Amino acid sequence: MPKEVDVIIVGARCAGATLAMRLGQSGVRVCLVDAARFPSETLSTHAMFNNTVHHLKALGIGKLFAETSAPAVSEVIMRFDEVSIQGNLPIVQGESHGYCIRRSELDQALLEKAVSYPTVSFLEGFRVQSLLKRAGRVVGVRGRDGQGRVRDISARMVIGADGRHSVVRRELSLSPKQAVPSDFACYFSYLSHLEREGPPAFEVNRIGDYTLVVFPTSHQQSVVYVSFPNTDQPWMKAFQRHPMEAYERFLKENFQPISFHQRLARAVVEEPVRGLPFYDNVWYPAMGPGWVLVGDAAMFKDPALAQGIHDAVWGAELLAEVLIKYPDWQSQEAALAGEYEQRLDHHFGSLFKWALTMTKFHPLTAEQKRFFQWLEENDEGKERFIGLYNRAFKVEDYQAKVAEGWKRQMGEG
Ligand SMILES: Cc1cc2nc3c(=O)[nH]c(=O)nc-3n(C[C@H](O)[C@H](O)[C@H](O)COP(=O)(O)OP(=O)(O)OC[C@H]3O[C@@H](n4cnc5c(N)ncnc54)[C@H](O)[C@@H]3O)c2cc1C
Repeated sequence: MPKEVDVIIVGARCAGATLAMRLGQSGVRVCLVDAARFPSETLSTHAMFNNTVHHLKALGIGKLFAETSAPAVSEVIMRFDEVSIQGNLPIVQGESHGYCIRRSELDQALLEKAVSYPTVSFLEGFRVQSLLKRAGRVVGVRGRDGQGRVRDISARMVIGADGRHSVVRRELSLSPKQAVPSDFACYFSYLSHLEREGPPAFEVNRIGDYTLVVFPTSHQQSVVYVSFPNTDQPWMKAFQRHPMEAYERFLKENFQPISFHQRLARAVVEEPVRGLPFYDNVWYPAMGPGWVLVGDAAMFKDPALAQGIHDAVWGAELLAEVLIKYPDWQSQEAALAGEYEQRLDHHFGSLFKWALTMTKFHPLTAEQKRFFQWLEENDEGKERFIGLYNRAFKVEDYQAKVAEGWKRQMGEG
């Protein structure tokens, strides 16, 4: 076990492993630690649109996509009650297909790549409990290893890539810059033998107040995610008391207008139902003396965007760039922190705002329904709408072009 390194990264999944990889490429001495053992799952579905696939292939883990049993997907179907918006993912940097690969496979591939660099070491089953501090600076971590022994590791920088419930963040007693609770509860599990005609597709269905998302994943299963307003007491209670029973009933009862119950005829729920009855969208200050946050530890956006994996990887790349640009972290700390925060604002500001609109529950209005009907018949608008999700188009461009087209139509109608 290293006693002293340049960087300790707490959390070894999308954000942590990517950062370790990028720093390892520059010869930085990294100690990556994770409380979990690998390969393992984490509480997350794992749809990756083609923008994420492009990013991950650029990290050098293309083999994952060649070898996975998860199908390549280009078709997207979004249903809003009786309207169906269907099309292919707009191509992003030459990449046309998305995937929904189990996290045990994805995170393992990232981790293996990270530890292939000689200056990166990895401790699994190591749970960080507190931060070591000296004269107002973070100078290391104290944690328990897999044998239950308490260990201290010192570093020039401690990086919290430890997810939504970050211990690094908790130990710093940080207050969020923004915190907006979601109006939704969400649950998911894995189904085998779910019937479907046609090529594999990412499906999102909003029927009344309820949402059903189906992603075909590894081992010929589908990950099936549902969400509903967390003010819906009967379903909230049902999911909290008997999650499996509630999940099966929710799937059977609430999506009959799209005949989902018929697709369930031979389906088997293969794993326990997991999810979040309540969650917040949060954005925290990301850097201070001797510490940095990255990935979900810095910012969590509603899973409805299905871009958390992408943004954790991207955030890690932004951080690696600034850490390498300013090699004397202590004396250049103000410049480093300023640039990292500024890059996060620039890249994630409008996406965070968009997440805040998605996280609030509003029944579909008559005007929204007319808009979706118009979109159904409008190929360019449809492409831009789907392209919002895989970032082929920016939120601002979508608003300017599609919403303007719709307003013109209304004016003419
Ligand atoms: C219900 C749900 C569905 C989602 N669906 C999608 C989706 O379809 N597509 C998508 O792109 N994103 C999705 N996301 C978001 C995505 O899961 C996250 O954005 C992504 O995992 C963030 O990566 P991360 O590396 O920052 O953190 P994580 O993946 O959470 O990893 C954090 C790691 O830190 C470790 N850790 C925590 N505390 C300690 C400690 N004290 N000591 C040592 N290690 C510690 C944990 O063991 C864990 O391995 C979903 C999220 C949720 C909650």
